Amino acid sequence: MMLQVAAPSWHRELATAIRDADQLMDRLGLPDDLRIPARRAAKLFPVMVTESYLARMRRVDPDDPLLRQVLPLDAETARIPGFTTDAVGDQQAELAPGLLQKYAGRALLIATGACAIHCRYCFRRHFPYGDAPRTLDDWEPALATLRADDTIHEIILSGGDPLMLTDRRLADLIQLLAEIPHLTRLRIHTRLPIVLPSRVTDELLELLVSSRFSTIMVVHANHACELAGDCGVALKKLVRHGIPTLNQAVLLRGVNDTADTLADLCEQLVDLGVMPYYLHQLDRVTGAAHFEVAEDIGRALIQELRRRLPGYAVPQYVREEQGESHKTPLLS
Ligand SMILES: *Cc1c(COP(=O)(O)O)cnc(C)c1O
Ligand code: SF4
Repeated sequence: MMLQVAAPSWHRELATAIRDADQLMDRLGLPDDLRIPARRAAKLFPVMVTESYLARMRRVDPDDPLLRQVLPLDAETARIPGFTTDAVGDQQAELAPGLLQKYAGRALLIATGACAIHCRYCFRRHFPYGDAPRTLDDWEPALATLRADDTIHEIILSGGDPLMLTDRRLADLIQLLAEIPHLTRLRIHTRLPIVLPSRVTDELLELLVSSRFSTIMVVHANHACELAGDCGVALKKLVRHGIPTLNQAVLLRGVNDTADTLADLCEQLVDLGVMPYYLHQLDRVTGAAHFEVAEDIGRALIQELRRRLPGYAVPQYVREEQGESHKTPLLS
């Protein structure tokens, strides 16, 4: 008799993720006047939310900080001067298809264009993912570029979300990278431990700790409510496996733009063993202007965090500027 191997639960959860504005409204019992604008804005960038993430939202509350990150609003359709489709100059930093380098010693590989959630403020909502590599062969030009440049020591897997790759695909990619002798560090930029914690399987952990690389995980949570339940368990697992885990957040109006909210996020991260790394000023991407918080307010928030928290719990407040050799600190 053939044993049927069940698909990992995270595959099933992805297959049943919410991909429709009306479904999101219905599930959360949201007011009807949000429907038409939500449908309209969802045409620009489709809705996507996992069940796990939805379960951490309050019902009947359009201001829920998790919902705000995924709810399409009329404001997205506004054209605001200064907000563009390639806000961070990614298209100029491309060394090979899917390989970006902006900073010395490290390069970033767009491992896939897919994500488990669609964050409305995302700077990649306009990225031409159709051109990004999909098969192992498609990565060859990027790998050849990496092989030829021994000044690059760290490879960052990004996307989209690199953990959207199956374990098999991810293992193959890591193996190809591990064959490049001057690469010593592997960094994974992912939001999956936050929005799809079931992705953090024992198999994944084994895969990550068994490569020759020193592996660093950078997750992306913006609000302490995201860390509840399964998510906290998944983060603890990463940390217990000895994988240094950092968090980057984006400063977002109506989500985390108060000192209380940010302090709570940072403290809860630290309690899970995850170190706050960056607080990003919003990239000025078309459709996200309503999330912007003025830099003066951001600076005041960080100063308040410094008064309340240990030094290691305060993230660096940075902005991405085209042509700079590193992320630009907004507060010394
Ligand atoms: C943000 C970013 C990095 C990482 O920068 P660190 O300061 O090392 O975290 C690397 N490459 C690109 C293209 C980036 O946008
Ligand atoms: S790349 Fe990150 S921020 Fe952008 S939609 Fe995907 S998970 Fe959200």
